Amino acid sequence: MAILTIENLDPGSFPYISYAIFQSGRVAYYQKRAYVTAFDGQSATCQVNEDGGVFTVILSAESKQQIHAGCDCGQSAKGTICKHIVASLFAAREYIAQEGNGNWQYRLMQALESTPKEKTVRAQRTRYAS
Ligand SMILES: [Zn+2]
Repeated sequence: MAILTIENLDPGSFPYISYAIFQSGRVAYYQKRAYVTAFDGQSATCQVNEDGGVFTVILSAESKQQIHAGCDCGQSAKGTICKHIVASLFAAREYIAQEGNGNWQYRLMQALESTPKEKTVRAQRTRYAS
């Protein structure tokens, strides 16, 4: 079971975000146009208000380091990270920072994540990184 964390939601760890997309996503977040509507530890549903429309972004944890992100604007279907996803990453990180510690289910998941198998995951990360 993988959970969303401040680490794997870090927009800086996504290799294929252009600077322009990153900036507009960050602006949307700072303008409070991105917010988390559902969060269960393993996945988060976010909404982003943009140009009069509302876009839904789903973030789900695939492993300790990897998440899957999809947006209904259609750009992510082509394998591109859109600004809505960037905005949602920021919003989800803020959500975890603010709400995560007060949520017993999330704390329990965090505790389970850091039990013995962590060693294996760390070893894998080193291999992928090299
Ligand atoms: Zn989008």
